[in-house]
Amino acid sequence: MSIFAKIIAREIPADIVYEDDVCLAFRDIAPRAPTHILVIPKKPIVGLSDLTVEDEAIMGRCVVAASEVARQQGLDNGYRLVVNCGDDGGQEVPHLHFHLLGGRAMSWPPG
Ligand code: AMP
Repeated sequence: MSIFAKIIAREIPADIVYEDDVCLAFRDIAPRAPTHILVIPKKPIVGLSDLTVEDEAIMGRCVVAASEVARQQGLDNGYRLVVNCGDDGGQEVPHLHFHLLGGRAMSWPPG
């Protein structure tokens, strides 16, 4: 069971800012920006490379939820939504998650 599955199951604490039947959003424990929130599907999908057509609605809901959370958090000047995938993508937790980063200007390209 991944650490994010434990957060979904309320086995470990998290600062949850949004929840619906499909996804959950909570503050990153090591924030990389003034606002750093993780939006995750409740379904235990490991990463982007594991998605199938069955997951379209779930992923759509997560992106819309991220947009709602960004609005709720007052990120009116913009933000970045990032998914790291696999070793080269820098993914550490094997449960698909969107990083919602805001509150400062972002550089490009990412490192
Ligand atoms: P990634 O490298 O894309 O897999 O990102 C994993 C993220 O999860 C990192 O930004 C971590 O700081 C964050 N993280 C790890 N454990 C926790 C936790 N228990 N609660 C909140 N965020 C966490």
